[in-house]
Amino acid sequence: MLLLASVAGDARAQEPPGWRAGVANARITPQTSLWMAGYASRKKPSEGVALDLNAKCLALDDGSGSHLVIVTLDLIGVPRDLRDAIERHARQKWDLPSAALLMNASHTHCGPELRPDRLDGSAAGDEERKAGGAYYEGLKATLCGLIDRAIGALAPAKLEFFHARAGFAMNRRRPTEKGYINAPYPDGPVDHAVPVLRVSGADGSPRALLFGYACHNTTLNYFKFCGDYAGFAQRDIEAAHPGVTALFAIGCGADQNPYPRGTEEQAQQHGRALANGVEAALLTVPKPIRGPLKIGLKEISLDFAPAPSRAELEKIAIESKDPDRGHARRLLQELDREGKIRSTYPYLVQVIRFDDDLTVVALAGEVVVDYSLRLKRELAGPAVWLMGYSNDVFGYVPSVRVLKEGGYEAGGAMHYTSLPGPFAESIEEKIIAAVHELAR
Ligand SMILES: [Zn+2]
Repeated sequence: MLLLASVAGDARAQEPPGWRAGVANARITPQTSLWMAGYASRKKPSEGVALDLNAKCLALDDGSGSHLVIVTLDLIGVPRDLRDAIERHARQKWDLPSAALLMNASHTHCGPELRPDRLDGSAAGDEERKAGGAYYEGLKATLCGLIDRAIGALAPAKLEFFHARAGFAMNRRRPTEKGYINAPYPDGPVDHAVPVLRVSGADGSPRALLFGYACHNTTLNYFKFCGDYAGFAQRDIEAAHPGVTALFAIGCGADQNPYPRGTEEQAQQHGRALANGVEAALLTVPKPIRGPLKIGLKEISLDFAPAPSRAELEKIAIESKDPDRGHARRLLQELDREGKIRSTYPYLVQVIRFDDDLTVVALAGEVVVDYSLRLKRELAGPAVWLMGYSNDVFGYVPSVRVLKEGGYEAGGAMHYTSLPGPFAESIEEKIIAAVHELAR
């Protein structure tokens, strides 16, 4: 069935084309205990649920043949093969072009682990891996059904943009004599913007509020499933606006943490602060958002810095501790298997233009705040909305500044993955150039 259903046969067919929107949500809380994502130090699977995890979908049709399907997830990330599976389904069933699918995960560290390679070296056993794999397959089916329902619900709509601020994110890269450490650093760059897209029905009543914030969704580090501050913010907004679906899209907050952090009460407070940011935005003058949609999705090749030699890796694999040892071992396995270590990463850049009113840039990976600040400057004119953690979440995406400074986001975090890391310094200009090309 084609997405573009005409409204032939009634008077509306004569009117200029306008937006249609459809919204759906699905509960994706695991029904059993599962190994959790986010912290390599986890020693046991989940124990209960603090707040249900949700997947939500906003489908848009600009009335002139272009569509956009946004899926937001209370999960650690979007593995590329998850996006590929949903993209395939949307193409086959709805003729949706791949560029028209945007998937964003809130990066809660209190959801199930979806990335099997992150279980290497963890305490997870075969049973836990099997249960995680079963959940992942079920998730794919759930998400296919989710977008079917959102697209099936397309109905005339009005789109408006708002923005305000929330202040709980703080830069987490503190310079010390021993280099950059993960600790609150009030003098580092931040992006406190809270962008909001309000979607209302033909009768004027709001149906969806899509909002964003650039901050790690990591107030919590415990063993209950929970959407963290982003989950509580969505809950609070939906409670205050009956009938509305609240969707959270995380921004370029890879080097930002919510502070203070550690307790469920603090996660609720940050969620409240973000919900207040959304409510404050809604008090301002709305900016009408017109079509047409112009969407571009491009895969670019990012270079890694040269990997260590076999001799160097063998030394690290014997003499160092984890995560360096495990990382060196995985690279040695790749060297044995493939004859070489991968030197590039296929990186997804997506740009969505709502005429000259709003430009949404959705970047893959855990993107540091420099990209947000730079692109908002360089693309200004329309409202500019930066999303990170989109379409493929594989690891950190540092700027040149962060790469030069070093530390966790620069390359340290890659030692928990199978990627060679760090990226080469060409990373920033390659990503920025691709965004500009797609935004033209
Ligand atoms: Zn992260």
